[in-house]
Amino acid sequence: MSSDDLLVYINGEFVPESEAKVSVFDHGFLYGDGVFEGIRAYNGRVFKLKEHIDRLYDCAKVIDLQIPVTKEEFMDIILETLRRNNLRDAYIRPIVTRGVGDLGLDPRKCSRPMIIVITKPWGKLYGDLYEKGLKAVTVTVRRNAIDSLPPNIKSLNYLNNILAKIEANAKGGDEAIFLDHNGYISEGSGDNVFIVKNGAVYTPPTLNNLKGITRAVAIEIIQKLGIPFKETNLGLFDLYSADEIFVTGTAAEIAPITVIDGRTVGDGKPGEITKRLMDEFRKLTETEGVPIYE
Ligand code: PMP
Repeated sequence: MSSDDLLVYINGEFVPESEAKVSVFDHGFLYGDGVFEGIRAYNGRVFKLKEHIDRLYDCAKVIDLQIPVTKEEFMDIILETLRRNNLRDAYIRPIVTRGVGDLGLDPRKCSRPMIIVITKPWGKLYGDLYEKGLKAVTVTVRRNAIDSLPPNIKSLNYLNNILAKIEANAKGGDEAIFLDHNGYISEGSGDNVFIVKNGAVYTPPTLNNLKGITRAVAIEIIQKLGIPFKETNLGLFDLYSADEIFVTGTAAEIAPITVIDGRTVGDGKPGEITKRLMDEFRKLTETEGVPIYE
């Protein structure tokens, strides 16, 4: 099987990518009505599978979407998709849409949710920038307000994030950093944000951003290493005066930011604490996780 015609799971069937299609009347397509996850498999193991599935079901619950299989069944579907595609290192994209409805918004008219699992071989999101560092820019578009579309929901509606990405691209940034409507640092377009100042690590609480699973792993590592850590609201002052900045995400992993809005962070190279966390994170991904082939 070539890597560009892998099998995709769609509602009980495994179909080649080229034939993996959803209806134009699916509300996931029409309205972004659905939820998704981004998961990684490293070295034959799925990293933090249960945590991702728990978040998927929590997000589904928040949008009143009933996933028609159990969490255990969903995990089995993911493992089976990886096995059928012979993958050991992969990016995994589970999607649950509201399903096929009419052109109205009413989710009650949708027949049944659609479950999709896409798996792809995957390398490094930011290539050589893990050594060089990323240029990040804060963007004028604000993160979705917590009382409109809570950023905790990993929904199929990623337009807010895409607007941020468009702005970052236009400003020559590798990643966008959102502020919320109060001017507090929220998150990146696809990752959570941390800063290091005077040997301590800080990150915003998860009210105005996604409860990142890599964020939680990074915090565990920080605490295990005995590095002082605090969850606290951060502003532009904290970002611009930080000694180190890094972002965390399933796709991004732990990635150093060395330029923020044109200002050099620290000495312009990935910082010592960031590098230690990157090393420890790599070790965890190589040894932990749910085995695919046992
Ligand atoms: N924030 C946003 C907006 C994201 O899309 C992601 C990626 N899922 C993250 C943060 C990081 O979350 P995680 O570490 O669970 O991948």
